[in-house]
Amino acid sequence: MKRVLITGGAGFIGSHLCDKFVKEGYEVIAMDNLLTGSLENIEHLFPLRNFEFHHHDVSKFVHVAGHLDYILHFASPASPIDYLKMPIQTLKVGSLGTHNLLGLAKEKKARILVASTSEIYGDPLIHPQNEEYWGNVNTIGPRGVYDEAKRFQEAITMAYQTFHGLETRIVRIFNTYGSRMRLNDGRALPAFMGQALRGEDITVFGDGSQTRSFCFVDDLVEGIYRLLLSDYKLPMNIGNPSEITIKQFAEEIIALSGDKNLKIIYNPLPQDDPKQRCPDITKAKEILGWQPKVDRLDGIRRTYEYFKKKVKTS
Ligand code: UDP
Repeated sequence: MKRVLITGGAGFIGSHLCDKFVKEGYEVIAMDNLLTGSLENIEHLFPLRNFEFHHHDVSKFVHVAGHLDYILHFASPASPIDYLKMPIQTLKVGSLGTHNLLGLAKEKKARILVASTSEIYGDPLIHPQNEEYWGNVNTIGPRGVYDEAKRFQEAITMAYQTFHGLETRIVRIFNTYGSRMRLNDGRALPAFMGQALRGEDITVFGDGSQTRSFCFVDDLVEGIYRLLLSDYKLPMNIGNPSEITIKQFAEEIIALSGDKNLKIIYNPLPQDDPKQRCPDITKAKEILGWQPKVDRLDGIRRTYEYFKKKVKTS
């Protein structure tokens, strides 16, 4: 049986990856320090013989007994509110954590895929963003701790590939949504859905003209799976190129709720909030034969059902 270690395995994307690899017949080891992840996301996997959980912070030396075929490094705080609350942990998991996992991959002769991000493009000056763009990042701004940790992560991963001949993959993840996002992680989608479900005003930041491109988590997971198994060694964008302004996005969620009393209020735009973001996915299409399948309205409907239950029990 192929054996895979998934760090951040109790998080939003990590837990969906655990599901995918379990379903594909792998032996899955999820590792998480539960800083932002939750055991609730993976508790359905605990009874399975091909699943185990290690409670560990990958910024410290990582030990896993036995062989490993693959490592997927998805441990990190991942929302602007989280970086503000945990700037040092964010820097450490992207730098020291990545270094530890690259060392583990080298020791086990495993292939490693690291989770990078569209944040490495910063507030982009070209649009849509392709993988050749170097980015426009404020190193000392509030997002710098995440953006620079992820940029370092890409650099050290490429160094292990070229210097040690390690098998590495780098995925640049654009905005993703779906079940198991945290209701209060400060991101637009959980914030808007939570507010709509509680009958509160919808808080759009700035004038809402900034754009994002939202990818349903099942599509993302399929793209990551294909990238891992491909021969492609350079960073690859995975995201949904369907771009929307945040104001339109808020309106879609209001329409979905069916609550005619909901209204949008405008709050200040956070510092360094990117004005536009949309992935160029030409490479993913050509090299992986991948593109997103889930239409946004379908995806947000499915996610809204998840948050309905969450709001009831919160
Ligand atoms: N946003 C908003 N209201 C909120 C939370 C976020 O208008 O309550 C905006 C935020 O300023 C950004 C966009 O929605 O322009 C997406 O934010 P998110 O945190 O989801 O992702 P990121 O900025 O990291 O792409």
